[in-house]
Amino acid sequence: MPEQNHASLKSAAFKAIDRARDEIIGLARKIYETPEVGFEETVTSGLVAEKLEALGLNVRRRVALSGLKAVRRFSAASPTIGVIGELDAVRVPGHPDANPETGAAHACGHHAQLGSLYAVAVGLNIPELSGPLSGSVAFLATPAEEFIDVGRRLQRRESGEIHFLSGKQEMIRLGAFDDVDLAMMVHTSSEEPSGRFIVGGSSNGHLVYSVRFTGRASHAGGAPHEGINALQAATVALTAINTQRETFEERDVTRVHGIITRGGASVNSVPAEVIYEGRVRGRNLAAVDKVAARVERCFKAGALALGCEVQVTAIPGYLPIRNDPAFDEVFVANAKAVAGAGSITRQPYDDTRGGSTDMGDLSHLMPVIHPYVTAARGMTHGADYKISDYETAVILPARVMVGTVIDLLADGARLAGEIRQKHQPAYSRAEYVRLQTERLRTIQYRGQ
Ligand SMILES: [Zn+2]
Ligand SMILES: [Zn+2]
Repeated sequence: MPEQNHASLKSAAFKAIDRARDEIIGLARKIYETPEVGFEETVTSGLVAEKLEALGLNVRRRVALSGLKAVRRFSAASPTIGVIGELDAVRVPGHPDANPETGAAHACGHHAQLGSLYAVAVGLNIPELSGPLSGSVAFLATPAEEFIDVGRRLQRRESGEIHFLSGKQEMIRLGAFDDVDLAMMVHTSSEEPSGRFIVGGSSNGHLVYSVRFTGRASHAGGAPHEGINALQAATVALTAINTQRETFEERDVTRVHGIITRGGASVNSVPAEVIYEGRVRGRNLAAVDKVAARVERCFKAGALALGCEVQVTAIPGYLPIRNDPAFDEVFVANAKAVAGAGSITRQPYDDTRGGSTDMGDLSHLMPVIHPYVTAARGMTHGADYKISDYETAVILPARVMVGTVIDLLADGARLAGEIRQKHQPAYSRAEYVRLQTERLRTIQYRGQ
């Protein structure tokens, strides 16, 4: 078993993590207290950068606006293992620890990932590993995993600040993953019981919508007949979308949902502009596209009924994740060694969770794993989501990832090489960028 072969190296790395335990958890807690939304995680990113720099790492800051990357080199040869932590919070204004101005809260537990990322860097920063390991480890803190604030991000796109609307999508495009051969991260989960790893499974792909209904303002009391009510058009569209739900097939894991981010300007004026931000999810792109075509018809139906205009911008969301089974085996062996054989829940690889992640995009370019650690309470993205135990949320996954890196890079990085060879990437970076660029389209429809 590989974990027995490298037991002394791992134990030295674990000791380094244990010595820095309070500082590592302190970083995760500090980040929890400064929640920031996607592409705006400047304080968060700065906190992580300072810690990595204190370990002697050279940190490239402001990658994809607020991301960062640092590489620890054991030898000049490849491969490079990517260890990822996500920087952003999600907007849950009712969360007790939300930023009162922005409503941002770490209701998805990403702050724990950043604590783990730093802990892995600490564990690998010991002289004992310099001889036995080959290749490198890249630490990547990625912005904007939560696909929110679509209007704001479209503005950033128009001004040339970004091209894709999520952090990993953008970091792939910019080449930040070009020298990375395999990548992993561990996400927290509030499933019970605590202290387990959920390994395998898949996630939904998705398409994101920004939809603008444009009508005509008039006095809502004095001359409503002179106006064209964009809010009524949106209401018809949403009702039409709901009529489609009986056509959704169970096997597609379809999800259609959204919010109205602008419902009108003043109550005494017929709403002339309404903006809907929505999403269509499904277990593969064919399932997404099938439902997307119907949803787009419904947007037009709303405009047609009221005689207004609608502009539908369809934005490339995430690809379904393809966790790499051979890579998972290395992680599982280490999880068993660290947390016991009973700590693992295996999810079938065709079992799709309803949510989505931009690790899915990365998994189409290289072997990737995205296990979960159960270490939180409450509902993900809910007002009650909270890390219940930082030792389990931050330190435990870090130990498993350190063990995994050691197994991958020891013995001339034999295991990493084998995983990479077995893996069939779906796309090159250029093909991926082309695919996601082509998925972006705008439909104009005049309902008159
Ligand atoms: Zn989330
Ligand atoms: Zn998340």
